[in-house]
Amino acid sequence: MKCRMCGGKAEVHLRSHNISLCREDFVRFFHRRLLRTVNRFGMFGLRDRILVAVSGGKDSLGLLHALKKLGYNVEGYHLHLGIDGYSDRSLEKVEKFAQREGLEVKVERAQEVLGYTIAEASQRLHRPTCSICGTVKRYLFNRAALDYDVLATGHNLDDEAATLLGNILHWQEGYLGRQGPVLDEDEGFSKKVKPLSFNSEYETAAYAFLEGIDYVLEECPYAQGATSIFYKGILNRIEEEMPGTKIRFLDGFYSFRAEHIRPAEVPLRPCSRCGYPTTGEICNFCKLKAKLLSV
Ligand code: SF4
Ligand SMILES: [Zn+2]
Ligand SMILES: [Zn+2]
Repeated sequence: MKCRMCGGKAEVHLRSHNISLCREDFVRFFHRRLLRTVNRFGMFGLRDRILVAVSGGKDSLGLLHALKKLGYNVEGYHLHLGIDGYSDRSLEKVEKFAQREGLEVKVERAQEVLGYTIAEASQRLHRPTCSICGTVKRYLFNRAALDYDVLATGHNLDDEAATLLGNILHWQEGYLGRQGPVLDEDEGFSKKVKPLSFNSEYETAAYAFLEGIDYVLEECPYAQGATSIFYKGILNRIEEEMPGTKIRFLDGFYSFRAEHIRPAEVPLRPCSRCGYPTTGEICNFCKLKAKLLSV
């Protein structure tokens, strides 16, 4: 197989774009797609201070690596969730990456902020681990990003297409209104962006591999059986038969959304406990902390 751009030996074949590329041209392709998404949705500029939330996986580490290479002003943030051995192994990868890249990555531990690890909190309150994790991540990511212009996460095309499929199958109108590559609905917090929305999971894996990024291969143990994984499988089967479907699905939705869907305006006020913006009197994170103290 020859590279479509230079005629050299191709290393990556992209079915959705019907092209094969050598290592250098694939890296350029990956950066171009990322930049197109950043510019199309006005995510950030070279002067903005960007905080990238890194889990230790290929997507978020690849994003931080790519943005640094492209000359953006980036730093990383890692939240240690305290999940079995998975969190320690993830932190190890993040620390090695930060050292290799000469990048600042701040580390926060859920246990220190909450008093319990995510898994312990879930057991104490008899609530699903992912629900606790979602509340904690949302709050701490927002808080960590307060000193930055933008918070970037590593959600890729497959993640976003699977979320969209789930939201449509269940007609989650509220979620559909809020699903987008740029979220600035949380007034008082920094804007949140997903620059890899049009880079597929296959591409982020190939990019991390070709750029020599050492990332944590395993998924969080609580991700097993998640509906998002089921939706991803279905979309992959459709993609096999009809390459390019995922991109058209998401792209079409974003164009439709821009014209026809207005996210509901939810008035925000400062949480009476911590002072950060929330919809009710007390934010979900402070409620969670209070419940943990009372059991
Ligand atoms: S799968 Fe793991 S990291 Fe993801 S929300 Fe659930 S507990 Fe958190
Ligand atoms: Zn080439
Ligand atoms: Zn609060």
